[in-house]
Amino acid sequence: MDYQGYAKILEKLILETEDKITGIEQSCRPIAPSSSLGRLTRMDAISDQGVQQAMLEAAEHRLTALRNAAERLEKGTYGICVRCSKPISSGRLEAVPEALVCIPCLEKKSS
Ligand SMILES: [Zn+2]
Repeated sequence: MDYQGYAKILEKLILETEDKITGIEQSCRPIAPSSSLGRLTRMDAISDQGVQQAMLEAAEHRLTALRNAAERLEKGTYGICVRCSKPISSGRLEAVPEALVCIPCLEKKSS
């Protein structure tokens, strides 16, 4: 895939992730103590909030990575492994457009 192809994918993912964040934020507003929900329902709502908080953090983390990738694309360093400076395979970039390291480095890191 070429520069334009990755630029389009990153732009689309950034927009999707921003929408996702907006959606999560709207659904997890703080629960008011005076809420008319019963106590158990309120506990459920609070535990849902924990799940949503984790989803929100994951989405924000991804958004940062995607924006970073878009920036790298502009600078011409996109698709270059930050560890070994070798090109990252196109298969990996298509699967994970915000990837910063190549598969061999990723495997080394996790082992
Ligand atoms: Zn590498």
